[in-house]
Amino acid sequence: LSERLGGIFDNLTGRGALSEKDVSEALREIRVALLEADVALPVVKDFIAKVKTRAVGEEVIRSVKPGQQVIKIVYDGLVEMLGGEEADTSLRVDTPPAVVMMAGLQGSGKTTTTGKLAKRLSEKGRKKVLLASLDVRRPAAMEQLAILADQCGDNVSALPIVQGQLPADIARRALNAAKIGGYDVLFLDTAGRTSIDEQMMTEAAEIAEIARPQETLLVADALTGQDAVETARRFHERLPLTGLVLTRMDGDGRGGAALSMRAVTGLPIKFLGVGEKLDGLDAFDAKRVAGRILGQGDIVSLVEKAAEQMDAEKAERMAEKMRKGIFDLNDLADQLRQMQKMGGLGGLMGMLPGARKAKQAMESANLDDNVLKRQEAIISSMTKAERAKPALLNASRRKRIAAGSGTTVQDVNKLLKMHQQMAGMMKKMRTKGGMKNMLNMAQ
Ligand code: GDP
Ligand code: MG
Repeated sequence: LSERLGGIFDNLTGRGALSEKDVSEALREIRVALLEADVALPVVKDFIAKVKTRAVGEEVIRSVKPGQQVIKIVYDGLVEMLGGEEADTSLRVDTPPAVVMMAGLQGSGKTTTTGKLAKRLSEKGRKKVLLASLDVRRPAAMEQLAILADQCGDNVSALPIVQGQLPADIARRALNAAKIGGYDVLFLDTAGRTSIDEQMMTEAAEIAEIARPQETLLVADALTGQDAVETARRFHERLPLTGLVLTRMDGDGRGGAALSMRAVTGLPIKFLGVGEKLDGLDAFDAKRVAGRILGQGDIVSLVEKAAEQMDAEKAERMAEKMRKGIFDLNDLADQLRQMQKMGGLGGLMGMLPGARKAKQAMESANLDDNVLKRQEAIISSMTKAERAKPALLNASRRKRIAAGSGTTVQDVNKLLKMHQQMAGMMKKMRTKGGMKNMLNMAQ
């Protein structure tokens, strides 16, 4: 029975909501997808729980399957968790000599990434860059950095090698050389070990203390998967990390380590290593990585298109209602949302001939974006019954709504007045002879 009732309400309002069952089924598959992408288990659990509360009750987009819609919600959640669409990937290197310290396990790609970043900063940022290797255990590591500096061109140099110095001594010498030589940026490429040990951490912490880096980047191999979490946690405990770099994103891995590391540290992912060569470096892009982790790019774009389509249909439906002279506060809320999306008053009112006066009423109410959001908040603080029948809104209800939406009773009154004006317009247009007349009026 309740299902039938639900169906009736769906028909009444023209919409439904994602059920707990729809969501749970889809999330079971997504859980597997995330684990396959090497996202750490605790991170997966947390994330799934969050998405679940968000997805249940979400309005169903017609023409896509509930499972597909859940995938899109998961995707949006991933993008957000990875730092959002407009994540800041730039390095803060504006006070010369700005020190950038590279940390990470041996073989993670620190030295290679140092070369890539140096090339990028010297070419795109026109910076003068000094590279210093603090890896005293492997003489070849210093050589490697010197060769990279050569490949980067005139604006990048390597600190001359002096045998027998400790990492802390080299750091001090490098700082001096950077100041004297007028360098904009100094990279300190530290030594890593194959696994985390106390000595390495103490050494790295000491260097950070001496050099006070503006940026301390943790470099990690995207293919290490589950281990990435532990690595990130331990480094984050001991070093003033400012960002993450994930290397070997050109490999087969789905890049789940990115999500895990970000979840554990809360640090921004700044770059992705995508090859052995010096130009194999990309600025981090949350959407791209989210798509890769999920491995469901096609479905995401399918749902995005369907959502656009639904907005268009909703607009059509609303215009139809308005033609019939029905216009309650639910409709006003829809209208306000639509206007926010379309970025102005061009939307629905424009579809309705003869509605110039109502449009003016809205314009005179000074509808900028913040006002729109506030008005939407007011309407969402109302009960269903109140929205359908604004006459219910007596003084005490208005007070409650103002408190609930973080506005004032005056704000609530203003909104109701605007609604009345608009609803009045609709009625007038109707009684004056319907569409035909309205069309004439509009001319
Ligand atoms: P370090 O010990 O942390 O300094 O690591 P290296 O910079 O010496 O890199 C170790 C190996 O990984 C080298 O053979 C690099 O060419 C390779 N490498 C580093 N970054 C990438 C990457 O983004 N993609 C690929 N395919 N290889 C990389
Ligand atoms: Mg190295």
